[in-house]
Parts: sequence; C-alpha cells; structure tokens
Amino acid sequence: METIIAEIVERLRSGEELSAKDLLRILNDHNRELQSNARHYSKKKLLPFYLRTKERAPEIWAAWNITPELEQQLIALLQVKPRRSASGVATITVITKPWKCSGACIYCPNDVRMPKSYLADEPACQRAERNYFDPYLQVTSRLRALNQMGHVTDKIELIVLGGTWSDYPREYQVWFITELFRALNDADSGAPSADGQPQSLADVNARERRHWYKKCGLTYDRDGLIAATEDVQRRVDDGELTYNDAIAELYEGNDAWCTITAAQRATMEDLEREQAANEQAKHRVVGLVVETRPTTINTEGLTHLRRLGATKLQMGIQSLDPRIHELNKRPSTREDLARALDLTRLFGFKTHTHFMVNLLGATPDTDREDFRAFVSETAFQPDEIKLYPCALVKGTELCAHYEDGTWQPYDEETLVNVLVDDVLATPGFTRISRMIRDFSAHDIMAGNKKVNLRQLVEARAEERVQDASSKACEIEESITGGIQEIRHREISTQDVEVGELRLETIPYETISTHEFFLQWVTPENKIAGFLRLSLPKPEAFEAYDNLPVSADEAMIREVHVYGRVSSLHQSGSSAQHRGLGKSLIERACEIARSHGYKKLNVISSVGTRAYYRAQGFTDGALYQQRTL
Ligand code: SF4
Repeated sequence: METIIAEIVERLRSGEELSAKDLLRILNDHNRELQSNARHYSKKKLLPFYLRTKERAPEIWAAWNITPELEQQLIALLQVKPRRSASGVATITVITKPWKCSGACIYCPNDVRMPKSYLADEPACQRAERNYFDPYLQVTSRLRALNQMGHVTDKIELIVLGGTWSDYPREYQVWFITELFRALNDADSGAPSADGQPQSLADVNARERRHWYKKCGLTYDRDGLIAATEDVQRRVDDGELTYNDAIAELYEGNDAWCTITAAQRATMEDLEREQAANEQAKHRVVGLVVETRPTTINTEGLTHLRRLGATKLQMGIQSLDPRIHELNKRPSTREDLARALDLTRLFGFKTHTHFMVNLLGATPDTDREDFRAFVSETAFQPDEIKLYPCALVKGTELCAHYEDGTWQPYDEETLVNVLVDDVLATPGFTRISRMIRDFSAHDIMAGNKKVNLRQLVEARAEERVQDASSKACEIEESITGGIQEIRHREISTQDVEVGELRLETIPYETISTHEFFLQWVTPENKIAGFLRLSLPKPEAFEAYDNLPVSADEAMIREVHVYGRVSSLHQSGSSAQHRGLGKSLIERACEIARSHGYKKLNVISSVGTRAYYRAQGFTDGALYQQRTL
C-alpha cells in the first residue's frame, strides 16, 4: 500500500491529472504482481491507510514529502462517495431505539428490532443495532468512518430518524440529543492511552459504554437478535400481534432494557452545556433534523424542538387526499397537514416532507394531481420532499390487499412516468432529496427494487424536455425550462466562477407567510447557494397563539452554500468561501426592511451561532436576531 501511495504522490507531484480510471489502472498493476491468494488492494483501503500512516507512522509520511496542495489532490482522488459531503455538510444519520408509534399505517414496516417504519437491513439501522441504539456510539462510529473515507467533518448535519419523535418520552429526547452533542465534543478531546497511541475521549468513552451495555445483558450479535425476536416477529407478521404490543412484550418487561432506559435521561441544563461546548468544537452541529408526524405538531412541541436545537423537521405527509389517508389508516385531513406545515414554517423550521405514490387507493392520475397540488398550493409548498413509491414489505397490513388484488405496484414504465411528471411539476425552491427508501431488495416483496430509479426518472424527464423544446409544443411549454428542483441543479463538487453567478429571487405565497427564495445561479441555472426568507403575515398572529416571534420580525429559515466541504478553519476555493452566504443575508435584510419588518431572526444551529454573530446577529432564547 505504501508503494502505491508513493507512486500516486509522485505522479501528482509531476503535474499529472489522475482520474478515477487512472487510479484503477495503478491498483490493477499492483494487484497483478500479488500472489493469487494474497488480499487485493482496493480504492476504499487507500485513504484510511494514508490517514493512519500520517497519524501513526510520521516518519513514513514525512518521506512522501506531501505539501498541503498535494494532500488536497490526493484526498480528492482517494475519496469514496464524494457526493456525501458535496452539499456543504457531512451528514450523520442516527436511529432511536425501538418504540411504540401512535400511528398504524398499513404500509409501514413492523420490524420489532427497529423503531416503527425502519428495517434492520437499512444501513443506518445496521449501524444503530451494532451500537445498541446509543446516540453517542452511533455518532462516534459514523464520524470515524466518514473521516476514513476522506470527508471533512467539521460541519455536521445530524439526522435523527425513527418512528414518531414526539411519541418518545421527553427525558429520552433530551438525553438522546445531549449524547449526540457530547459525542461530537469528545471526538476532538485527547485521552491518555496505555499503548502510547493517540486516541480521543470519544473512543475511550465508547469502549466503556459498550462494556456497560454488555454488562447490562444486551447483545449486538445479529444472529442472537434474530433468534431472540423471531417468535414475536412471526406473530406480528401473521397478524396475531400489533407492532406496539410486540414492543411492549420484548422490551418493557426486559431487565436489560429497563436498566438502560432508567439511565437514558438528561436535563435541559446537561443539554445546554454540551450545546455551548459544541460552539467551539472541531465537529460542529450546523443542522439538526428530527422526524415526526404532522398531526402531532403544536406550538408547545415546536418550542421544545427548538430548545433541543432542531432546525429542520421531517414529516410524513404521504398524500393530501383524505380518502387515501383513510384507506391507509393515517387519519388526517388536508387542513391538518396545511396547519402543520404552516406552523412549522412560522417557527422558522425547514420542512422536509415524505410523499408517497402508489398508495392503496391511488391511481397514476390521482398521484399526479395530488403531487401537483402539494408543490404548488399556498397551503403546502414544502422545502424538501422524499418522494417514494409505496413498496410491499413483509408483515404489513398491505400484504392482505396485495393478495386479494386490491393493491398492485405500478409497473416500471408507469412509475417512472408518474415520477417524471412530479419532478417536472416541482418548482425551483423545492428540493427532492430522495426517490427510494433504503430498503434492501430482499425486504421488498413487490414494488420498485431499482436503486437507480432517480437516474431513470431524470433521464426520461430530460428527454421529455428536449422533445417539448424541439416541438415548441404549447401544452408542454411549462417544462421547456427543464428540471427546476434544487437537488438536480446543485453544483455538487464542481468549482464555480463567482463572477458568472447571478442572484435571483423567487417570491411565493403560503397561508401565513410571504416567502422569498434567493438563489445564486450559474449561467446554466446550476445552484451555488440559496436562502429561504419568511415574512409572517398579520393573519398568522390571529390564527395561532404562542408564536415565538412578533409580527414585525422576519425569519431566515435556511442559508445553504454549496461546494465541496472545506474546513471551517481554512480558506478554500469552493463557493462556501466566497462570501455568497453573506451577500444572501444582506439581500434578505433589504427585502425584509423594504416590507416594513423591524427585525430579522435566523433559526441558527449551535455550530453556526458564531457565524451569525459575525453577521451582526445577537443571541436570543430560540433564535438569533438582527435589528434592521
Ligand atoms: S406514523 Fe410513521 S412510523 Fe408510525 S405507523 Fe405511520 S408511517 Fe409508520
């Protein structure tokens, strides 16, 4: 491995621009020289090897004579899955422990080893199970993996998934979030070690925690867990037991789980201490996402979420049609959904919604109509959408409908066409973040199994746009501008020419706010950064009690500047370091001021507070604020 790194470094030093294919060729050449039974070199092992050598064998590393520029090139070449941090932040997804859910949706997985709606084979779930669902352990192990893959991890978005967040006890919620912050804070603190190797406080604490969980009687052995839960899982799958009853049977009377549950509590003071420490930590939380159900949203709950540090809410909307909701056992009306989105926006949160096509009772036409209303009517218009096709998972109530023929998955052609229409109907201020769930193919009994569904949909959508442009067809006029949704237009890992960017404003109306989406775009309409500004309407203060802001206060709900993640502490050439964020904020101030607002709030995260202070904002209880 040492020889391979030395060869790559030499070639980069000589000015060669190595591509992924060149790297593969180098690896193949070296693999050919190996004995047939020797373990082969692979790309994914190179970066961890390089970083380990730098940390633990400084004399070997020094012999490579690597300058900071050369190291940047090397890491870019060896990095696995660069898109993971291309949106400007490194993401860590964590899963809460198995828990009852107050919903009972017929398509929702019932894996008793997981919180409702998740399956043990999903990557984040496997990680959670290996870490006893402990937030500290999940963060510590994910952070290590991201670093080994070469991602810069000083700006972290934490995504907390699992069932319905508001169904968990408050003390568990506070403990869970406190431990997330603690893990990031400890990751950068050194701790003495017996063998003289450098180690972090997080590694030391993680070892102790694992030991404690084992002592309590928990295991993370997959076969052991399957054996311990298979009888209950079978009864759930056969419809003899509900998921909630199974959770009570498996965990509520279990001594080990009772012991750990008793320890899973923290106070708000504990949390605030870790949050304060995180402001200066190396791994700062720049976004905290929590998943809940729209019908559980109220002003008191949103205030609590804000105190936890949440900046974005994921909500399962799934459909706007009350008939579909009833058939799928998700009792909610259009008014419930509109109110949830409205309140969430007034609190400054970004809204990340889940929307499903092909639910029981839906047809391709009702799906198209439903989605179009969702992305265009003033009552809805979410910021982000996970747009999934419904898939049949073993043990769900939907199986009976599949068997009696009342539900069928769309064939691929139909599904792709529905999604193409949805993508083309999505406005430029909305981001479609995903098009598939992370279910593995063997968990899907019927429905889409293609992991590249998004690529298929985007390719077909592009064809449709080209076709419409060439025919100048009137009916298709609305799509000739191409795909507008944000994710498709993100500059990703590309560098941008700042001089070529233009600042555009897209205004739109919701029930309670005037919204302004400010975006920096390239001549090709790629997006280099954006800001979401909300100006609350006076009616909002008549409609809702206990809003956290006054009628003369505007709100920045999101600022996002793209470009490969560069360290908070280093200057860089990406879009993040060219003052794009600052000019977006200044433009937001001008708009708010010109509409008569006296103050501007920002829903900052713990790790971005210092940045906003530098932009003239002062700390408040739930938001930072600047006088206009
Ligand atoms: S509310 Fe969410 S987690 Fe609960 S049953 Fe419905 S889909 Fe599943």
